[in-house]
Amino acid sequence: MDKESEAHLYEPVAEIGEGAYGKVYKARDLKNGGRFVALKKVRVQTEEEGMPLSTIREVAVLRQLEAFEHPNVVRLFDVCTVSRNDRETKLTLVFEHVDQDLTTYLEKAPDPGVPPETIKDMMYQLLQGLDFLHSHRVVHRDLKPQNILVTSGGQIKLADFGLARIYSFQMALTSVVVTLWYRAPEVLLQSSYATPVDLWSVGCIFAEMFRRRPLFRGNSDVDQLGKIFDVVGVPSVEDWPQEVALPQTAFTPRPPTPIEGLIPDMDELGKSLLLQFLAFNPSRRISAFAALTHPYFQSVDSDSRRLYAQPIASNMPTMEEQAA
Ligand code: ADP
Ligand code: MG
Repeated sequence: MDKESEAHLYEPVAEIGEGAYGKVYKARDLKNGGRFVALKKVRVQTEEEGMPLSTIREVAVLRQLEAFEHPNVVRLFDVCTVSRNDRETKLTLVFEHVDQDLTTYLEKAPDPGVPPETIKDMMYQLLQGLDFLHSHRVVHRDLKPQNILVTSGGQIKLADFGLARIYSFQMALTSVVVTLWYRAPEVLLQSSYATPVDLWSVGCIFAEMFRRRPLFRGNSDVDQLGKIFDVVGVPSVEDWPQEVALPQTAFTPRPPTPIEGLIPDMDELGKSLLLQFLAFNPSRRISAFAALTHPYFQSVDSDSRRLYAQPIASNMPTMEEQAA
């Protein structure tokens, strides 16, 4: 990591985000012709030996991923550390600056909304980025429109992943409410956190791109689960995870709601894919890799397929192996 103070290299222009984990600024990169960058500042607990090993590992993973320069993952230009004192280190991550996030993009979309072919193209890119992360054993864990960036040319770039341990430390310090709307049921039930959690979020985002408003807007863990079951039905006892605090019987049985009423503009293939993202049981939920070959994407033009095709390491453990 570069020890040099970032203050001399980047000139802040505006604050663009303030989350539970720190602030994000738009800045000029003075050493690189004044290009715009996004600076993300996070505080890390310092231990006797310096930064915790978990932080060093997470940053190393981010840098390894960056070496692939995946088109659907935000570029990480640099990581700077500033030691504040023996308790705290400030970490600054320097990313390429992208014009807007998906929340803003959807808000700005003129009526009658985003064209279905654009949604398909963006979903394809989102899944390419996610498949890349998953094939490198990185689970995003907080996929939502605010963490998906959209360039002015319509390119999708995943952001805000890979710092789960730093985040959990920060979360303990703040009272910022994290949105539950994209959380998988197994996360809400605190039963598992493997790659399928991200595909649930993809399903919620897919629906939202058509609706231009969130699919499940819960205001507590239990309320969120209730909203989910209103649509997918209350799962069977066999599908209910073992050893979770909430029993299946806590929810009144109800039938699933037909998806037609919720997302009238979605075609049949889209609906069939959506239902595979919204499978309650994570072991029956479609993977990013499998979703990319779903017939819904058959009409994605071959140019974007070639553009996004990436060699994938073949020695990575499968989801089942990871779960074991
Ligand atoms: P947090 O941990 O606070 O959620 P994020 O990395 O998600 O931090 O950034 C917060 C917000 O800042 C995002 O929702 C997005 O709107 C904006 N943002 C983040 N990264 C970039 C970037 N590289 N370019 C432009 N805007 C960004
Ligand atoms: Mg975020």
